[in-house]
Amino acid sequence: MEMNLKCAYCKFRYCYKGVKDEERLPDFCPMKSETETIKSITELYREENVGKVYVQSTINEKEGYEVVRGRLIPVRPRILELIEFSEKMNYKRIGVAFCIGLSDEALRISKVLEERGFKVYSVVCKCGAVDKTALGVPEKYKLRPGEFEAGCNPVLQATLLNKAETDLNVIVGLCIGHDILFTKHSKAPVTTLIVKDRFTGHNPLIALFTSYHNRMIRRKEEKY
Ligand code: SF4
Repeated sequence: MEMNLKCAYCKFRYCYKGVKDEERLPDFCPMKSETETIKSITELYREENVGKVYVQSTINEKEGYEVVRGRLIPVRPRILELIEFSEKMNYKRIGVAFCIGLSDEALRISKVLEERGFKVYSVVCKCGAVDKTALGVPEKYKLRPGEFEAGCNPVLQATLLNKAETDLNVIVGLCIGHDILFTKHSKAPVTTLIVKDRFTGHNPLIALFTSYHNRMIRRKEEKY
């Protein structure tokens, strides 16, 4: 059956408000059509492997705010959330899988994590020095065809961190697609600290909020 999942278009957010009156739910609302799924998934959170991560994450969420004059004000950056969540989970060994273009950031992150008492293992994307063609990329798709060009090697990054027996792996700016392969091959759970966006200084949201970027992402035929 074709799923009709369109929460992004819903103006009501009855799920958030806790309204369960079926009459008021939009036709595409999963709370109308997927009641059995919701019930069985709720049970899943009682299992150790889901529940522990979930509860600690939710405690972290609460601690990420302070109430000031009745309003919730965020008080912690993501890197501190990463540290405090890892402490709650009793993670000791953290892997940092980073893009060579974010070497400075990876060093700063490693030092901060080490200062906070974690054992840190970092692997750069170009590790292995394997030419892109050996990884199946045609020569013409190199940035500089005809020259040696080390390919990013996310499967190797994951494999080395698996060997290091990390408790958690952190993505620092891996390319889109490479991050997918890294996540797929990592044995430890994976979280992203920095998402690669070369054009916006790794802040992909900017592209949604400026008219220049908006034109760029909506109209494929225009070249900038
Ligand atoms: S779950 Fe239902 S009420 Fe909530 S956003 Fe989606 S469609 Fe709207």
